[in-house]
Amino acid sequence: MRTHDRLRIAIQKSGRLSDPARDLLARAGLGFRESRDRLFCYGESLPIDLLLVRDDDIPGLIAEGTCDLGVVGQNVLEEQALEREASGQPEAFRAIRELGFGRCRLSVAVPNDWDWPGPARLEGTRLATSYPQLLARWLRNQGVTAEPVVLSGSVEIAPRLGKAEAICDLVSTGATLLANQLKETAVVFESQAVLVAPAQPFGDARAELAAMLLRRLDAVLSVRA
Ligand code: ATP
Ligand code: ZN
Repeated sequence: MRTHDRLRIAIQKSGRLSDPARDLLARAGLGFRESRDRLFCYGESLPIDLLLVRDDDIPGLIAEGTCDLGVVGQNVLEEQALEREASGQPEAFRAIRELGFGRCRLSVAVPNDWDWPGPARLEGTRLATSYPQLLARWLRNQGVTAEPVVLSGSVEIAPRLGKAEAICDLVSTGATLLANQLKETAVVFESQAVLVAPAQPFGDARAELAAMLLRRLDAVLSVRA
């Protein structure tokens, strides 16, 4: 059993959100002792520990109570929230602060030589994506029927492989699209990193710790803004 007199925060182990997340926590005054396997970092300055994981695992870790807070992209969080909703599971986590880094957008991109009269152009096409829920919601709002082809990576090469006609993928600079002869035509979802917490408030010592951490984070975030 976990004792609940310490707070456990999940952040991405290695990737785009790792350094900015660690930097933010350091600015809030948190210091950690690195363990040899680098999966768990013991909080030295405060009773707040870190768990280093894949970003996609963070909402689930909060939902099951393994971690108390997390830093994750809104794209991952909202996709998994919609997935839970679609399968009848209750709301288990929510974003409590926007963190201002990890900005990107989930966009539809089509082959360079396509005309783009608008989203209706996608009617009846196959769209490769790692975000089927966010894409489906957008397609519904646009009144377009298309077939999502779910791929966990290398979405941008799907059109060249004949797996899909177009894609819906994360974009920040657009360099990857350019390299794959694709052009961005519509933004499906705008994202940045957020602090995520359980939907239910903590009923023990973690409430105090979380409140203190939030006060410190708010001070850091207000200086940055
Ligand atoms: P993991 O091994 O943790 O699953 P990953 O490959 O899913 O890693 P990254 O590529 O590091 O993760 O992206 C993590 C998050 O960074 C994304 O979910 C998104 O919120 C954000 N991000 C910002 N810009 C981009 C971008 N250009 N492409 C992809 N993700 C981006
Ligand atoms: Zn991931």
